[in-house]
Amino acid sequence: MISVRDAQAHILDRIPAAAPPEFLPLAAALGRVLADDVRAEMDVPPTDNSAVDGYAVASADVPGTGTYALEVVGELAAGSIFAGTLRTGQALRIMTGAPMPDGADTVYPQEVVERNGSRVIVGPLKPGANTRRRGEDVQAGAVVLPAGGVLRPQEIGVAASLGLAQLLVRRKPRVAILSTGDEVAEPGSVRKPGQIYDSNRFSLRGLVEGAGAIAVDDGIVPDQFDELHARLLRAAEHADVVLTSGGVSVGDHDLVKAVLQQAGGIDFWQVAMQPGRPLAVGSIGRAHFFGLPGNPVASMLTFHLFVRPALWKLAGRRQLFVQPFRATAVEPMGKKPGRREFKRGILTYENDRWEVRTTGPQGSGILSSMTAANCFVVIEEERGDVSAGERVWVEPFQ
Ligand code: AMP
Ligand code: MG
Repeated sequence: MISVRDAQAHILDRIPAAAPPEFLPLAAALGRVLADDVRAEMDVPPTDNSAVDGYAVASADVPGTGTYALEVVGELAAGSIFAGTLRTGQALRIMTGAPMPDGADTVYPQEVVERNGSRVIVGPLKPGANTRRRGEDVQAGAVVLPAGGVLRPQEIGVAASLGLAQLLVRRKPRVAILSTGDEVAEPGSVRKPGQIYDSNRFSLRGLVEGAGAIAVDDGIVPDQFDELHARLLRAAEHADVVLTSGGVSVGDHDLVKAVLQQAGGIDFWQVAMQPGRPLAVGSIGRAHFFGLPGNPVASMLTFHLFVRPALWKLAGRRQLFVQPFRATAVEPMGKKPGRREFKRGILTYENDRWEVRTTGPQGSGILSSMTAANCFVVIEEERGDVSAGERVWVEPFQ
């Protein structure tokens, strides 16, 4: 038996450098991982400019008390510049975003002044008010977007504000997904007696895509050594990662381990966790291999714990794990010491705190427990039964 943490560490050790980078236009880069730091080559905004529609003045002109009249010498819209320099006693009508004219440092919002023909009457104002300074958003030379970060809408926006049209991002890992087992039937087909419909290939596909990777559907493989051998080798030719479910227990027809021993390299682990004990990790051809347990909840959970961090490392991400947080258990939860248990939980914010309860029966074949849930409740190895009111870790999921 090995612990969840040791299994995670061993897996990440096996993943070498990230996938090669490629340039993508901004419009296609959402969700990708930056391969290189993005350093600003310009200040944003590129000039001091007005934050309001109003009148630009030199603050030195305006007395600290009372009112003062200035001559309005022109008008400046966003997108143009004022050719001259404001002289003593002059103001410039200015629109939001227009560059500050030479000689001015302060803008009066139009609502606070009195316009009187070609003159404007103003009161005291703090020097520099209602202006935006050159470089106050981004300074030239600064690393604005560090390598390894995921590009969200705001990162794409910042890149665009620097005038960049494309970004160097990591290629998406390709993941071939296969289900194993004579009992597993294709949804939409007629199910033979004794068969069940394949759910793992579909939930795993969603998890793969949700992790930012490309899913390749390689179908269902019966429990036959030669067929499994051929199909896994073929999958490894077009994927960075080969993912199977089922066939890793110790039953007579659990062939994944035997095939991998011949076709690649494999470590077969009993992980001290519930659900999802058996896990096979290795390589086949040039691909990484993960053999997940067949039970539907166990296959989703082991993906979450072991496969997603590996895909994220391959994708060049800096952060490989989602931050868990603490919630209060509002019902007792049975727990055996010596293994890490993952309950399907319903997390809500009530009574001024995060509260969590379980979804009901927790069998590792009860996939509907995942549809009722919005988190895993994580109960650490050393703990025993949890009483209502105790604090537990939760990991929210989609
Ligand atoms: P195995 O690890 O192959 O012994 O499978 C463990 C349990 O998971 C068995 O009850 C299988 O029928 C079930 N199972 C295996 N593969 C799938 C699948 N693709 N979809 C749904 N259930 C599965
Ligand atoms: Mg099986």
